Amino acid sequence: MVLRERISEHTYVFRSSMYARVNAGLISTPEGCVLIDTLPYPEETQEIANFVQRRLRSQVKYVILTHSHADHVYGAYLFPEAEVIGHLYARKLLLTQTKPALLKARTLNPVLADVCLIMPAILMEKEAAVRLGGATLIMRHAPGHAPDVISVYYREEKVLFASDAMMPIPYFVHGDIRDLRNTLRALAQVSPVEDLVQGHGDVLLRGEVKTVIETYLDYLDCVERHVDWVLAKGGGKQALLSLDVEDCGIPRIALEGLATKLHQENLVTLFLRKRKARQVKRKA
Ligand SMILES: [Zn+2]
Repeated sequence: MVLRERISEHTYVFRSSMYARVNAGLISTPEGCVLIDTLPYPEETQEIANFVQRRLRSQVKYVILTHSHADHVYGAYLFPEAEVIGHLYARKLLLTQTKPALLKARTLNPVLADVCLIMPAILMEKEAAVRLGGATLIMRHAPGHAPDVISVYYREEKVLFASDAMMPIPYFVHGDIRDLRNTLRALAQVSPVEDLVQGHGDVLLRGEVKTVIETYLDYLDCVERHVDWVLAKGGGKQALLSLDVEDCGIPRIALEGLATKLHQENLVTLFLRKRKARQVKRKA
């Protein structure tokens, strides 16, 4: 079952109920639709395809893959007529990371048997736009969660799709904490925004955007402060993991209870990266 929400006149959001509340966005125009990401399971993405065909009597002209992670890209093969757009870095990540993981996942989960990865044919780097049937979609590089993340701003309806740069708990294990901070600050500058669609979880309304971005930035500062403190006093894993996600302002129940797990992965990743950087510096 997919939750469908119409957030403005021509904008729909489809949310997975099977995995981590992933969002896909759909923009409908008189000349066809633009799909922003797909959902993790084929039966969920198929619901979007059916909606476009039967309810809107339209077709998907472009699929924008906001980054190469499995939960956003698995359904792209269900739109064989669409042009697929992604970041320059997405191709390599799809081939070296998403594909081997898919081959493994297929053997474990028969519902993924038909999934095949689609490589973006149109690649963007810093900024690019799609224009279709009166809709202008501005795509911008938004790294931090992963190196290939792009955000999409639908200018006419003032909807910002932030992808996983914004999710109920910031997560930088596949990316970089500094990039994520810069991206969050850049997203806070996008104006006007009526609705902000996060990569996972609830759609934010205009009045919530600034506060939520501040919460995410505070979370990142809290994690980094703690890691620096543990490194300074030569603490180990126990000291590192003593910081609860709630101490950094993110509820434990966020992202269907995944918050603690992702938080601990953030801590360990940052700790190992910083420790390595110190060792390299010492050697030099
Ligand atoms: Zn992701």
